[in-house]
Parts: sequence; C-alpha cells; structure tokens
Amino acid sequence: MNLLRTGEDIERHEEQTLAPFAQKSTATRGRLHAQPADRWRSEYQRDVARLIHSAAFRRLEYKTQVFLNGTGDHYRTRLTHTMEVASISRTLARALGLNEDLAEAIALAHDLGHSPFGHSGEETLNRLLKDHGGFDHNEQSLRVVTLLESPYENFDGLNLTFEVLEGVQKHATTRTAPDLGDYPCSCLEGQIADLADEIAYYAHDVQDGLEAGLIKPAQLSDVALCAEISRHNGLDLTGTEAKTTRLSLARLLSNHLIHDVLKASAARLAAAGLHSADDVRRHPDLLIGYSDRTAREAKALRAFLYTHLYFHPEVNDANQRACDLMADVFNAYLQDPSQIGREATRRVPNSGLYRAAGDYIAGMTDRYLLREHARLFDTA
Ligand code: MG
Repeated sequence: MNLLRTGEDIERHEEQTLAPFAQKSTATRGRLHAQPADRWRSEYQRDVARLIHSAAFRRLEYKTQVFLNGTGDHYRTRLTHTMEVASISRTLARALGLNEDLAEAIALAHDLGHSPFGHSGEETLNRLLKDHGGFDHNEQSLRVVTLLESPYENFDGLNLTFEVLEGVQKHATTRTAPDLGDYPCSCLEGQIADLADEIAYYAHDVQDGLEAGLIKPAQLSDVALCAEISRHNGLDLTGTEAKTTRLSLARLLSNHLIHDVLKASAARLAAAGLHSADDVRRHPDLLIGYSDRTAREAKALRAFLYTHLYFHPEVNDANQRACDLMADVFNAYLQDPSQIGREATRRVPNSGLYRAAGDYIAGMTDRYLLREHARLFDTA
C-alpha cells in the first residue's frame, strides 16, 4: 500500500472537501514566472514554505509590534504577531470550509513590509519619502514578495501565486503588483487574514498593555466588549488578580471575536448564494466580518487602544526617539550613497536613490538600524 500523498492527491482532496466558494489550488491563476508543479505539495503549501524560508520573515523577530523590540521578552514582536494571525486564519478557514493553506500564506506575508519601530517607523518613512511616492506597509509587503526578496536566479521576488498577492494587496495601490484584476473583493481567504490580523492585535495588545501596566483592568470596564465578556465569564475587572485577568481576558476576547466572525460570516455566505471563488470576488461587499453589534464594539476597543496604548507616552516617546535615528540614517545615505548596503546599491538605477534607501531601511530590524546609526555617527 502506498501511503504517500502527492501534491495532486492533496489538490484532489481540496476539490472534494472545501466549500464551493473556497479558492482551490487547482483553480489558481498561477505565478508570474511559470514553474513546474511540486511532487508533494499543493501550490499554496509551496507559498507558505517560500514565505517562512524568506529572510524578510526571519527579520520579523527583531521588529517592533507595539513595544520597542527588546524592551520585554514577553511582549509580541512582529514575528509572534504574524504567527498568531496565521493560527487564527487557519482556524477561521477550516471552520468555514475554506482553503487553510492559502489563508495561512496570506497571513504570513501580510506584515513583511513593516519598517522597524512599528507604526511610528511607518509614519517616519512616509514623511521621508513624501515627494517620492510615500511609504505604506501594505504596499511594501507586496514589494517585498514581488521584488526585494530575491532567492531565484532568473527573476526577482518569491514568485507567489496570484491569490496570495491578491490577499496581500489589500488596500495597497501598488506599482509593483502584476495585474490583479479589478474585482471589488479579494477571495474569502484574503478577507479572513484581514480579520485575523485585527482579532490577533486586539487580544494581544490588551494583554501586553495590561502586562506593561499601561492599561489598568478597571479602565477596560468602560469598554463595552471587555465589560460584556468579563460579565459573561465571571471575570472581575476591578479585582486584584491581575495576572488571571490579563491572561483570561486576551483568551476570552479572541475566542469571542472568532466565534462572532464565524457565525456572522456563515450567515452572510449562506444568504449570498455563491458558487465559486470568483463569485466572491465579484460580490459587492466583503463577506467575512463581525456581526453589526460586534463591529461597533470592536471599533470602540480600537479607539481605546489608540488613546491609551499606542499613543501612551511610554510607548510613543520611545518609538519617536528611535524614529529620529531612522531619519538620520536615511539622510546619511542620501548624502553619501556609498554607505548604503550592497543589494540596495544594485537597485538604485531602477528604483532611484530615495526608494532604494527607503526599501533598505524598511527591511531593517530595530537593532540593525540602531547599529547602523552607531556606525555612521559614533566617531569616538
Ligand atoms: Mg498585522
């Protein structure tokens, strides 16, 4: 008896088991550069592997999510955030009969374009590049996988499938993507990765914020979503069991949001009468999402996090100081392009000096940028 399953067996299994509106590997629009099928893996499994094995993915370990990288060993980094998004994406995809491998691949790619120092770093790069096309992390993620990661001899990029690029594209209005068509929506697996991103950061930012002491449990009793979940689960937000609150609330919050998305999305899918993944793309509205009530409550939680965590002086000031160093490094490259890395120098003729310097800095880890600053400016 042959126990081994080939890529073809796996793709046949998808055909038989996934929902009609799921994106099947066999129906992929393929890759920009044709490559022969893999013996043991479906097309989206290959994309997952390409992303995990990329240098940009490994560097996520040393990039800030919210708290400056290295300030606490328990806090999320861009890498652990990405892994949580991939895990939630798989859960949502499996429960809805969608393509887990595709949802995972989109999740793994979604933050590859993030600069060092989190959102403040993104704003800084956007300012530095404002007369040269600006900077947006979604767009940059697409640039990373289509241009900057370059493991193949004959072309740039990871040569991912159309559907993964479509999912990563999200809000990007990009110059680097191949023709992704003009459908109003991406496939459901892309919509899932988007929601999973939100669910992951709501839950882990609440947890990390509590752990850092920047958010007090009692403040969360004013946030409807947290108050409601605590009431249902007998969690005392005003109590003294800080650790229990911290750990339980994050878990309960992500469970609550996942269940809500599953129920609301299943109802929308049932009502939409879809027969294929392209029906999803042509549908005028997104189909994966919260119930109306939870959508309102999630928005309020988001506003709370902006005010009390992302712009908390302890978070924001440290990131701002780091961003001043980023601007120094950027300007040093403009003044003396011979200081820029070898790969980035190779891209100057095509991309221009500003964009090449921006790409180079966006790809850096927090600590590499600090080292680069010391190299360029510490004369002692
Ligand atoms: Mg993210």
